[in-house]
Formats: sequence, structure tokens, C-alpha cells
Amino acid sequence: MTKKMVEKITNMDEDFAQWYTDVVTKAELIDYSSVRGSMIIRPYGFAIWENIKDALDAEIKETGHENVYMPLLIPESLLQKEKDHIEGFAPEVAWVTHGGDEKLAERLCIRPTSEVLFAEHYKNIIHSYRDLPKLYNQWANVIRWEKTTRPFLRTLEFLWQEGHTCHETEEDAHEETVKMLNVYADICERVLAIPVIKGRKTEKEKFAGAKYTYTIESLMHDGKALQSGTSHNLGTGFAEAFGIEFLNREGKLQPVHQTSWGFTTRIIGAMIMVHGDDKGLVLPPEVAPTQVLIVPIAQHKEGVLDAAYELHRSLKSSVRIGIDASDKKPGWKFNESEMKGIPIRLEIGPKDIEENKVVLVRRDTGEKIQVENANIEMEINRLLTDIQENLFQKALEHRNNKTASAVNMEEFQEQLTLHGGFIKAMWCGKQACEDQIKELTQATSRCIPFEQENLSEECVCCGQKAEEMVIWAKAY
Ligand SMILES: [Zn+2]
Repeated sequence: MTKKMVEKITNMDEDFAQWYTDVVTKAELIDYSSVRGSMIIRPYGFAIWENIKDALDAEIKETGHENVYMPLLIPESLLQKEKDHIEGFAPEVAWVTHGGDEKLAERLCIRPTSEVLFAEHYKNIIHSYRDLPKLYNQWANVIRWEKTTRPFLRTLEFLWQEGHTCHETEEDAHEETVKMLNVYADICERVLAIPVIKGRKTEKEKFAGAKYTYTIESLMHDGKALQSGTSHNLGTGFAEAFGIEFLNREGKLQPVHQTSWGFTTRIIGAMIMVHGDDKGLVLPPEVAPTQVLIVPIAQHKEGVLDAAYELHRSLKSSVRIGIDASDKKPGWKFNESEMKGIPIRLEIGPKDIEENKVVLVRRDTGEKIQVENANIEMEINRLLTDIQENLFQKALEHRNNKTASAVNMEEFQEQLTLHGGFIKAMWCGKQACEDQIKELTQATSRCIPFEQENLSEECVCCGQKAEEMVIWAKAY
């Protein structure tokens, strides 16, 4: 009976949304909370986030940034200083109006992002070019009052890091914006095995208050896109609104050039939807809390548990390894380890012990490999590297199979209906066409990729002179 309960998740090609819900709950990543749209990140889900966070935090520090912490609450007057910013965020802001029984003289907003908090602080601590650059980052939670929510993908409250930097020149700010986009791309591709496309957001899709926004876009199993990290050049907009000025090398006062960039728990949703299958999660070894799970076979027989624990002891310094010595049946344990996406299952039973061997089973391919005791550690390390690489290649192949070009709207619709995915098409640069494409197809502009192609001279929508190639898709 219990075995059946572990197994039962919806087939992903039948109902992808339900499959996703089944996986996040049954793999014990989250639980729902009593506040609509909020989630409890359970230990297994949080351990995955910690691995992602550790990898990203290391790169943030390696590139010269320092971690700080800003307050949760923002006075309304502060939020309103930068016009575009408040206009963009006003519909999703949550307000604190009372302290105890007392009504506050000024409402306080719970941060949806912290540009204005950093701006106010920077105004106080930056005076001269000698104070620059300022390269700050914070790990925090934010609240955005979303109407429709889904675990990890869109929640009222989510965890993220937000970088906020100040620079002397426009070029320095531009370089920083590019540098951090590349850091995000590296984390996605190297750590999460998710291939990304780098590009610039259109004016319509850029961050509220930014000069321009760079983005990395990835493609999910169901052919929908997901924005996976953004890096904004804020120009001098916030600096002018908040008076963040410094004496430059010529002794003149000038506003700083700023950037901000963010990476969120949303990426866990992406990882699930890129790699998962009908058995549940498939975790890239780099982020898997447990990379290898030992499952003793016929563990009541003499010597089996001892041998399993001995293996655990000898391997735990080189790999994140667990052991399931509970009294559940091996079949149940197999299903459970598959549901949780553990990259390698290590089986050891009386016969294996006799032969000085163990069996390794790959989660990504299901392949079973017999390994002699002397080679276990080497073989595990080789497999982990291979699984990480295989997941990336599979995702890349999937994305390539679901990427098409279109030179007119008929082709656009056809390709999108056929397999969803990314559609490359030329664009005149006018928002009217962007709006019309969305209305006709539900696809939005994902980015103007850095790697441009010249597919035609004409805009896919209006037929007028095209300026750039845009990647379009239906998106999460
Ligand atoms: Zn057009």
C-alpha cells in the first residue's frame, strides 16, 4: 500500500502542471502554508537552495562583492522617489499600516526589491571617486503580491540575492552588468545543467527604473520559457532621484552609475521542469543534497548493514552520501530515491559482498553498473561528472529541437502550435508589434539575443524594416 503512494505521480505529458505539483510536494521540497501563494520550503528543498546559494555566493565574492543586509521595510516616501520604479512595483506592494494598535503616520512597504534602500544608504556613504566602486550584495526575502502563484515559480514571498553597485563611469556600470549576467549564466549551465540564452530585454519587458536589462532565458520540458536571472544597468536615474553624488577626478560633483541584479528560488522550479521525468525529480549532482544513496539489500542478513555502513564511512569525505537502513522494502527505497532525484543509487547485498562488488544505478539513464570495491570511489566520481554533463546535453538538445525561426506570422503560429519552444523572428522595434504578437499568440519577447542572426529584412509582424532578431516564447 505505502509503495503505491510513493509511486503515484501524474504522467508529465498528460498534465505537466499537475506533474509539477506532484513532484514539488511528493519529493518533499515544499508544503503549502495558510497564506495564499506562500510556501514552506522543507529541508530537502532548502538543502538544494543552499547548494545553489553557496555556489553563487562564492562567485559573487570572487568577483569582488561584499554581502550586507538592508531592512525589510521601506517608508512610502522613499519608494516614491524614483517615478518609473514605483509605477512598476506599486500593483504588487504589500503595506504595513499599523504598529500594534497604532496607525502609522507613514505607511511602510515590505520590500519588493531594495533599490531605494541601497540608494538612500549610498547617498550617505559615497562622497568621492575614492569611495567607488561600491559592490554590495544581499541575500534576503522579498514580497510581491502576485495574483496567480505556483510553488517556486511565482510566490508572494521568495528568497533571492540582489546585487547593488555604484560606479564612476557608464562603462564601468556596463561592464558590471555584463559580468554578473555571465556569473548567472555560469551558475545555470555549470551548476544547474540548464543551458541559457543571453540577451537584452525589450523596453516593454525591462526592469522598472532601469536603462536596460540583460537576461538569461531557459526552456522548460513543456516548451515554455523561464526568465532565469536578470542584470540591470540603472544608469544615473536612481542617483539623480536620491542625490548619490561624488567628487570626480576633476573635482566636479556628478551622479554615480548604478547596476542591480537578482537570482531567485524560482530557479529551483526551472531545474525541476528542465530535468524531471515521470519518476520525479532528477537533480544535477552539483546541487543534489545527497549525491549517492546506499540501499542495503536483504539487510537482515548478517554482515550486510555492517558493510553498508563501512562503505558510507569510507566515502563520506569525498561525496555527499546517505544510507537508507530503514525497515522499508528495497523497492520502496528505490522509488523514493528516484522521486527525490538522487543521482546515484548504490545497492549492496549478500551476493555483492561475497564478490567484493556493489551495483551503481544512474538516476538519469537507469543504467546499472557493477563495480569492484577497489574502484567504487573513482567510479562514483566519474559517474557524477558524466551525469552532470549528460543532463546539460539532454537539455540543450531539447532546446534545440524546440527552437524554430519564422519570417511571417503564419509560420510563427504554426511553429508555436507544433512544439511551443523558442521562436526566432525579426522585429521592427515597435511595442505595437510586440503587443500584437502577444495578443495573437500569447508569446512574449523573451530577449534580443546577443548572438544575432539576420533571418529577413522585415518585421515578422508588420512587415516594415526590421531592426533586430528577437526570441519569443510562451513563458512562466
Ligand atoms: Zn513591426
